[in-house]
Amino acid sequence: MTYTFQSLPQLIDLRGKLASKGDYSKRTRAITHRVWHHSLTKKHLAGSDAASFAAYHVNALGWPGVGYSLIIEPKNVIQTSKGPRARIVYANDIDRRTYHVGNSNQFSLGICVAGDYRYDTMDDATIASIADLHASLIKDNIGKYDTSHNEMPGYSWKACCVYDYRKLVKWEGSLTPSNPTPIPDTYIIQEGDTFWSIAHKDGAGGVTVNDLIKANPGVDPTKLKVGQKILFGKAKVQSKPVNKPNSSTSKPSGNSYIKKFQQWLNTFYKADLVIDGVYGPKTKAAAIKALQTELNRQFNAGLVVDGKWGPKTHSAIRTASKRAEGNITRIIQGMLYCLGYDPKGFDGDFGNGCDAAVREFQDDENLSIDGRVGKNTFSKMF
Ligand SMILES: [Zn+2]
Repeated sequence: MTYTFQSLPQLIDLRGKLASKGDYSKRTRAITHRVWHHSLTKKHLAGSDAASFAAYHVNALGWPGVGYSLIIEPKNVIQTSKGPRARIVYANDIDRRTYHVGNSNQFSLGICVAGDYRYDTMDDATIASIADLHASLIKDNIGKYDTSHNEMPGYSWKACCVYDYRKLVKWEGSLTPSNPTPIPDTYIIQEGDTFWSIAHKDGAGGVTVNDLIKANPGVDPTKLKVGQKILFGKAKVQSKPVNKPNSSTSKPSGNSYIKKFQQWLNTFYKADLVIDGVYGPKTKAAAIKALQTELNRQFNAGLVVDGKWGPKTHSAIRTASKRAEGNITRIIQGMLYCLGYDPKGFDGDFGNGCDAAVREFQDDENLSIDGRVGKNTFSKMF
């Protein structure tokens, strides 16, 4: 079978020509996920190409061949009629189950962009090749969803990929269809799905993880089962959970909200806290882990999720302020309760009550009083 992507002018077919010992077996399932990797080798080094990855995977790891189907090589630039493009190596037949995401290999296509994007900057020729390849794969009907390696089950700790593949595949030069299909009302869980991956496979980009959590109050996102039906399109119009503070006392009713915060950390971040409504070092570490997890998920921050407040976490912080929505806002609200302030609810919506509590906290901590929770305000919280 010949695919559209094979006629890209920057593509070279090296199937059967790279280091190997034996064959990968044939896939027994259709490809649903296009999984984006980087090589974690600096892009201009001699070893940053398909041939070197193949040698490493075969000789050092003992694999049958290189672990990716397609490899983009920034150091090999090809001049095409559309401009300079990074070379794309077709390394393994699309129908081969290569090794790159463990239990998910069967249905995942491995695409690696050579380089270490924790430090390297991505150049235009590489971005253009990513977009060209992505557009062709869509035409060829290979895969339905894009994910990064660390969004695949079991790999959340991986600093792979750290570039923003969501933005790159929508690069303006790409031929990716711009009119996604509407969001369905329900969704059936498939192998490997998480709320996180689902939130990014709706096509329209409008459904967040928080929407899914709100729309599926009885569903434990850590225990999704293949075939399980969840509510999908209604997430946006689902009413907010009622979570009003229970009295008008000036200081917060505290403990019950700290309990809610602890329960939430347990459910969504596997924190394993005792639900005692008491703020101590374990709850603090769990809150930092949740924040690190969200910074990784939402901003590809590449943090080690260790529950310790350090310079890397500090510099990865994005500022939240009034009208922000989502899990980071919940962490802010939970922390305010823990520290004796009353943000008037633990609902993930940064409203007037949360704004007022943040300002009170900033005043007490001699921070500039602007209601914006950025690096300095977070630092004082932790
Ligand atoms: Zn990877």
